[in-house]
Amino acid sequence: MNTSILIAPPALVRRAEQQDTQAIQALDSAHFIHPFTDHGDLATRGSRVITHADNIYVWDSEDHKILDAMSGLWCVNAGYGRKELADAAYQQMMTLPFYNTFFQTTNVPAVQLATKLAALAPKVGGRRFEHVFFSSSGSESNDTNVRMVRRYWDLLGQPQRKVIISRNNAYHGSTMAGASLGGMSGMHAQGDLPIPNITHIEQPYFFENALPGESEADFGLRAARWLDEKILSIGADKVAAFIAEPVQGAGGVIIPPSTYWPEIQRIVDKHGILLISDEVICAFGRLGHWFAYEKFGMRPDLVTFAKGVTSGYIPLGGVMVGDRVAQVLVDKGGEFNHGYTYSGHPVACAVALANIELMERENLVVQVRDDTGPYLAERFEELRHHPLVGTAEACGFVAGLLLVKNKATRELFDPDLGVGMMCRAHCFRNGLIMRAVGDRMIIAPPLVMTRAQIDEMVALIRRCLDATVDELRAVGQLG
Ligand code: PMP
Repeated sequence: MNTSILIAPPALVRRAEQQDTQAIQALDSAHFIHPFTDHGDLATRGSRVITHADNIYVWDSEDHKILDAMSGLWCVNAGYGRKELADAAYQQMMTLPFYNTFFQTTNVPAVQLATKLAALAPKVGGRRFEHVFFSSSGSESNDTNVRMVRRYWDLLGQPQRKVIISRNNAYHGSTMAGASLGGMSGMHAQGDLPIPNITHIEQPYFFENALPGESEADFGLRAARWLDEKILSIGADKVAAFIAEPVQGAGGVIIPPSTYWPEIQRIVDKHGILLISDEVICAFGRLGHWFAYEKFGMRPDLVTFAKGVTSGYIPLGGVMVGDRVAQVLVDKGGEFNHGYTYSGHPVACAVALANIELMERENLVVQVRDDTGPYLAERFEELRHHPLVGTAEACGFVAGLLLVKNKATRELFDPDLGVGMMCRAHCFRNGLIMRAVGDRMIIAPPLVMTRAQIDEMVALIRRCLDATVDELRAVGQLG
């Protein structure tokens, strides 16, 4: 097999890949174990080879231009091709490509980024975030959270407070603790998960869990009170923390009713347990705020971040540590026996600083909050009238559509039909990346997307929905 294309300089690789997709697919299948991929399927159908990108578009090795409505994997907030970020990485690599931050050592970009994040994190209800712990991913950050909250309660002389409550269908990562905190049954089924002392309550998904005739507001309160019931059944003195995404992302963009978060806050405060807001998707402008807890009136003690902090250009994650935890852990805790080689990696931190500077300069967060976010919601609302769409919701720059068999009764399709995957295939064929979670079609576009590009995306979505209807009619699944 011709492997020379893999060691050629980038420009040549780009040209060669266009000619040699099959060779790359064969090597890919032979050597690369992909995340969340069925390798039997990969071997027969081959991977889509993405070769380059610009702004909100990516290109594959056959030179198809595709509008990336998922920002890579919810992360390329600043859009593709941002020279400022590449320059920041280059400069930092030439100055100090790596040094560890263990054992009383630090580096300038890590200090500057921690300072910047502390300034960006809004103070709510007198709670402040003056400290940051760095990792390289969302999963590592949530593993850090598990160790940090247990250490916190140990230091307070309450070592029996071990249980962390999460929600079904949540996504908190793929490491042992991350996947355990997550509420994905398919993940729990592989690797003996969840690990002990992690338990789950139901998610606040109005469509699936509301009672007949129940208002969204009432449902939000009832869903929040599942947490109270769970805490009481375990015993409040055994519960360490509650972790949740402000808007559930990978679970299918589940946006809670407005009554949900204030009631959750009341319940965690009543029992004195810690609140962890997992904002790996929701922070850095995704919902029109630097941090999403501000939007929902949450007062978390710890905030997980990753993805958008560097717009995905280089791996970086971390935990914003609120005063309540910091005062115990940082001020009185002695050595915290935890850390990663790449905690505070200077290149990743330099790219994050450049990314935040770029987002500030282009006013991206406010643009999503006040202009393009509301416009996206308006255009998504129109899709509700499409014959295949049962519900359509948007929040900032995440949005979801539920595909239904019968619009009037909101009857769902047989899951075995894979209607979401069918729709997703039409999206690829029509030059659009949308993600399917069951029969929910979801998006999280780059924050640089303009109103005209939103129109372009919505037109493409409509075309793909129409194509899905045609295919379903052809196989006799729609009247
Ligand atoms: N938390 C949330 C809310 C996420 O969406 C993700 C990733 N999609 C993670 C944690 C895990 O992040 P990573 O893949 O960087 O480990």
